[in-house]
Amino acid sequence: MKAKTHPKYIKTTARCACGNEFETGSTKENIRVEICSQCHPFYTGNKQRLVDTTGRVDKFKKKYGLK
Ligand SMILES: [Zn+2]
Repeated sequence: MKAKTHPKYIKTTARCACGNEFETGSTKENIRVEICSQCHPFYTGNKQRLVDTTGRVDKFKKKYGLK
């Protein structure tokens, strides 16, 4: 659908599964992402994309059945 008015973009914080947070612009607040520039293999060159910094990663891994 085409809206005449653009969605209202706000500056919000996106939180990644690795615990990294970064500011971004979006129409939603408090975005949650599964991967970011801090843990993406493309940027880190590491197969271990998830860096366990807060322990929340373990929760994330269990949820998705990852080892
Ligand atoms: Zn990340």
